[in-house]
Amino acid sequence: MTAPLLNPRLTGFACIRCAATYPVADYLEGCPSCLAQGFPASVAAQFDTLPPLARAGTGHGLQRFADRLGYTCFPSLGEGDTPLLPLHRLATELDLDALHIKCESANPTGSHKDRMSAQFIARALDIGAPGVVAASSGNAGASLAAYAAAAGLACTIVSMPAMPGPWRRAIEMAGASIHIEPDSLSRWRHVRELVRERGWLPATNYLNPPVGSHPFGVDGYKTLGYELAESEACIAADVIIVPTARGDLLWGIYRGLQEQVDEKRLGSLPRLVAVDPFARLSRVLAGDDYRANFAGSSPLVSINGPTVTYQSVAALEGSHGLAVAVDADQAIADQVRLALEGLYLELSSAASLSALRVLKSHDRSIRRAVLVGTSSGYKEETRRA
Ligand SMILES: [Zn+2]
Repeated sequence: MTAPLLNPRLTGFACIRCAATYPVADYLEGCPSCLAQGFPASVAAQFDTLPPLARAGTGHGLQRFADRLGYTCFPSLGEGDTPLLPLHRLATELDLDALHIKCESANPTGSHKDRMSAQFIARALDIGAPGVVAASSGNAGASLAAYAAAAGLACTIVSMPAMPGPWRRAIEMAGASIHIEPDSLSRWRHVRELVRERGWLPATNYLNPPVGSHPFGVDGYKTLGYELAESEACIAADVIIVPTARGDLLWGIYRGLQEQVDEKRLGSLPRLVAVDPFARLSRVLAGDDYRANFAGSSPLVSINGPTVTYQSVAALEGSHGLAVAVDADQAIADQVRLALEGLYLELSSAASLSALRVLKSHDRSIRRAVLVGTSSGYKEETRRA
């Protein structure tokens, strides 16, 4: 495998809340200053002048954007450049002029998480981490395990008892170990122990209230924003709808699109819409504290959990976006509906269509939409009752 190569254009990291700047390092707990004040917030990679998208790299997927990422050489399994498909029949049904879906299910391990894993594993190799760890309900775990295996790194995934069998098998097949904790918050305690006692590098948050995932990994999600910015469907879209848990992907898409606005490739930023499994981000946008724990549960396992992050709020406010809570039964119906278009997505991903229905019922001026289909359905257990 090619050795990881840090991008010489990377100048450091900046807090997305207070704008404090920091040298290149691993900010596992986000901005030290904001954390000390009790307001956990992520930091984001900062670069000197970046080459335009068309000249940022060669090859396929993330490799095409290598000179705009934290690591210009990184372990790749072929992630990125996923299809953007039109959904003509659904557009007609929903009274839209155009509806497209970005099929992140086409990534090597079946989800968007591969964009994060490629950059994160490069970082782990570069600093000589003895192992990597993530708290995950499935997608991040399967992805991290695969990329760690390819890189020859030890990997532990901390999950919960309800982790579906196909994910568990994928993780174990890759040689990673699985540690089960009873709930979301106790998972984070176990990750923190591995980080502090064994020096393992965490791909995901371990604080409560949480920050985003490892900043080098989150930076990889910019590439989804870049790919969207290259498409006419996205440029014309009124809304881009993103299933959201702690907001890593939402932030990355926002960041990638915003860079393209700054570089005058995009005239304006499309509104980003976060899919809430129950009212959580939508409550924060209405005035609740982003650091709160929100009561609620949902069968949408990949976006479930009681917390939100500052980066989700910042991405939505920056794009004049909003969050939409969806009904689980509607998401189950929409999973079937998308499968009848040939797209078998995970329930949490199909919920993007449910969110579009809610939006459209309130705002008939929406004419063009893009759904982000974060993950395939093949890893879920057989139909719940
Ligand atoms: Zn800060």
